[in-house]
Amino acid sequence: MNDSLVLSSSSVIEATAISIAFIVAMFIGSKFLPGRRVELTDAEGGTRSFRLNGVALLVVTLIVVGGAHALDWLDLGGIHARFFALFVVANVFAFLLSGYLYWRGKSVERASVQDFLLGRDLNPLFIGEDLKFFSYRPSLIALALFNVSFAVVQFETYGHLSRAMTLYQLFTLVYVFNYFQFEYGMVHTWDIVSERFGLMLVWGNYVLVPFFYCIAGWWLVHAQSDLSVGAATGLVVLFIVGFWMFRGANEQKHRFKQETDVKIWGKPVETLDGRLLVSGFWGVGRHLNYTGEICVYLAFILTIGLESWIPYLLPAWLIGLLLHRSRRDDRRCREKYGELWDRYTERVRFSMVPYVY
Ligand code: NDP
Repeated sequence: MNDSLVLSSSSVIEATAISIAFIVAMFIGSKFLPGRRVELTDAEGGTRSFRLNGVALLVVTLIVVGGAHALDWLDLGGIHARFFALFVVANVFAFLLSGYLYWRGKSVERASVQDFLLGRDLNPLFIGEDLKFFSYRPSLIALALFNVSFAVVQFETYGHLSRAMTLYQLFTLVYVFNYFQFEYGMVHTWDIVSERFGLMLVWGNYVLVPFFYCIAGWWLVHAQSDLSVGAATGLVVLFIVGFWMFRGANEQKHRFKQETDVKIWGKPVETLDGRLLVSGFWGVGRHLNYTGEICVYLAFILTIGLESWIPYLLPAWLIGLLLHRSRRDDRRCREKYGELWDRYTERVRFSMVPYVY
């Protein structure tokens, strides 16, 4: 059996120690590393404050962990070796944290199983930190560390990195780095603004993202075949186009929400009643940010070629999630904007793929 799927009592104890040390380090880093603070008024009228230091946290973590590996103080390959044990511990942690959030929740009076799943509070605090916003850090930084550990194991086993693994590492590092670079925009996203923090988001952050979203890297470690130069070039193009749509659409909306009088693609912004953007990507499709993200994930997964069908579960899952989300968001916007939303959907008829959907 693959070493990383072995579960023994010693691997579980080690995985528990690693997980606790990691979460505590992430929390201390989030609390004390320098970063701009932004304040927002939440849906319930309260004020929330976030420190945007995710880039610093990611960079410091990679330097510290990479340095410790180079000095033989820790073995990055050990993360890969304990993959399944870490997965078990992360699940236990997710249930414990959700139980804690349920127990101390205040906003929803009558607690039920549904409140355990969906959460009771929008923005629970722990020692002054917004736990929901914080949780994206261990989530994505763990994803980055898993990926690095896969590269280390491949290099130590075979003496080189395959072309597929090199591309996969570049793509995923750019993606994670960009998430933190765009943290100022993430504070306005649906999850942060409107979702309560319960098992669903907790499990998504601490289990689904780190353990499932790295699936292609896990498979690439011992892959038998590699990408041709032509296939690699195709994937780079797919990644760049996807990233341009994903990041570009999010950035355009963010700039518009900050200041309605901006230029998009070199022209003064076009809007419906100054409230809905119809310039740039938002004039081509209502959710091209989702489409772009799907292309980015396809580029991650296609690095494994025909090695296995299992990693393709990730883009399949993401397509399902974002299709469902686009419908839910359309319903929400129709309620919020009323007739203006109808005008928008008449003008921008397609959601994710022009002329198709
Ligand atoms: P969006 O960033 O697309 O935000 C949707 C909101 O934007 C709407 O509710 C509306 O809110 C506003 N809006 C919509 N159209 C317009 C317009 N034309 N002009 C101005 N405002 C508009 O959605 P999410 O918060 O769902 O997603 C954020 C990012 O996170 C996306 O890039 C998505 O791909 C990514 N994501 C990734 C996941 C993953 O697992 N990898 C999972 C989920 C999301 P308002 O009330 O402010 O007007």
